[in-house]
Amino acid sequence: MSQTESEVPQNYFHKPLDIPILLSGTFGELRSNHFHSGMDIKTQGRTELPVEASAEGYISRIKIQRYGYGKAIYITHPNGYQTVYAHLNHFSPDIEAYVKQAQYKKESYTIELFPAEDKIKVNQGELIAYSGNSGSSGGPHLHFEIRDSNSRPMNPFLFGFKDIQDTKAPMIRGLYAYPLTKESIVDGKRSRKKIKLSKIGKDTYKAEAIDAFGEIGFGFDAYDQFDLAYNKNGLYSAEAFENGKKIFETKFDRFSFAETRYINRMIDYAFFKEHKKRIQKLFLQSNLNLDLAQKNDHDGILRMDQDSTSITYRIDLKDYMGNTKTIQIPVETKRASELPEIEEKRTPYFAQSNYASAFDNNQIDVYIPKNALYEDTYLDIQFGFNEIKVHEYTTPLHKSMSIGFDVSEFSEEDKSKLYIAKIFPWGSYYYSNTKKKKNRFVTYTKDFGTYGLKFDNEKPTIKPVNFRDGKWMSNYRYLKLEIDDAETGIDAFHATVNGEFILMEYDYKTKILTHDFNDNAVTETRNKLKVVVTDKVGNTRIFEANFNRKK
Ligand SMILES: [Zn+2]
Repeated sequence: MSQTESEVPQNYFHKPLDIPILLSGTFGELRSNHFHSGMDIKTQGRTELPVEASAEGYISRIKIQRYGYGKAIYITHPNGYQTVYAHLNHFSPDIEAYVKQAQYKKESYTIELFPAEDKIKVNQGELIAYSGNSGSSGGPHLHFEIRDSNSRPMNPFLFGFKDIQDTKAPMIRGLYAYPLTKESIVDGKRSRKKIKLSKIGKDTYKAEAIDAFGEIGFGFDAYDQFDLAYNKNGLYSAEAFENGKKIFETKFDRFSFAETRYINRMIDYAFFKEHKKRIQKLFLQSNLNLDLAQKNDHDGILRMDQDSTSITYRIDLKDYMGNTKTIQIPVETKRASELPEIEEKRTPYFAQSNYASAFDNNQIDVYIPKNALYEDTYLDIQFGFNEIKVHEYTTPLHKSMSIGFDVSEFSEEDKSKLYIAKIFPWGSYYYSNTKKKKNRFVTYTKDFGTYGLKFDNEKPTIKPVNFRDGKWMSNYRYLKLEIDDAETGIDAFHATVNGEFILMEYDYKTKILTHDFNDNAVTETRNKLKVVVTDKVGNTRIFEANFNRKK
């Protein structure tokens, strides 16, 4: 039983779907640049399952965006908590009508609404929406969140929802030792070392004995599974012990969105970028301001500087149900007879973590704000022609840096097609959000790598999917078009019939724009459709067609 469980209401929140709960994602799970803020409830591979209010309250926010949560509802409850339901297919009829009215008024598919407290009240179990796969969702599921009154997401298991069969302890994929200072060594080496494990009990492993000197730490790569689903989920807690005394702990009860990006400091970021596997570190380093990793006064670091010391280091990895995997690691002090030389790569571009840094040549400037780097770093910066390499993609950035290009050499016509691209070593590139001032284009990015100026001369494409010019569409519910843009991507679209706005929903995954004739926006028999699509530099394509429709 978690300490926090006694501090929150038990069984106040009901499950939002009327099916047995199986999860494809757990709270705190390590994701790209963030910890997962809710639980992902499997929807049997389908969409359109009724989604119910988890408890009484009022709908305080409705958001529709192309990416992220897609269509989402937020309910504020009388006890101060908020629940969130995301990747929805559509809303219940009343809410759908309310949202569509606002979309037609704003003439926009994407929208964010904050209904007043007395506007849409809901009872526990009341239908609010239908599950879907909208936004950045990799398959049909419901993302469900509980947030405290300070908008911090909390582990839903603290409140209940524990009616899930789970008898399996977490599975460990890899265990690693890290020398942490210039004087530290592990088994004679000054680099990360993978440690061999052998099974000594059902859920107990013993590691090969390691020799170490100086400050060292450990990290693991593991996942958890429930009994009735194949999905590889995140763990609940990880604890480290030195001779039985706890020296480090992370536990996913609650975090704040402001600290979620510190995941890049908590994991071995370079290893993740190179191998697509996340090693969670069991020790603290500078510039890790993450509450869930700072549970006590200890930092998780073993200090092996007394001769002939032997320590038993132990790791306990747990899921929320308490299933535990234990790993024992014998560590002995051993000075290296001969220390390998450290090669520190010095460059003219030294950036200190506690200060902002700026570098430039005649055309290109780079600005890295204070506390964007986790460590003082000699940056590898190479200024090229209309292109710059800014350090290595394996180094994390906590905040955005800016990269600016002087474009005064380009004609006005060229400037209108020009943008800043992120360029990969193998030559492919994509649009990096480009702010255009008169003679300076700038991009803000949290990824080190190569950036350069590129042209986009191609207009977007627009293709009718279920009609052609002059077609009778009386028996059709939907009007569908496919839109695409090869280079910078779709920025905006606008559709009218006989000069009046019609709402079209856009799914970036299928590239389909859909109008629902049940909106009753199309009232005439003879109709002239006009669709305007713009890419991110402003190239515009206009599509026009006629269709007929009798009520
Ligand atoms: Zn989710």
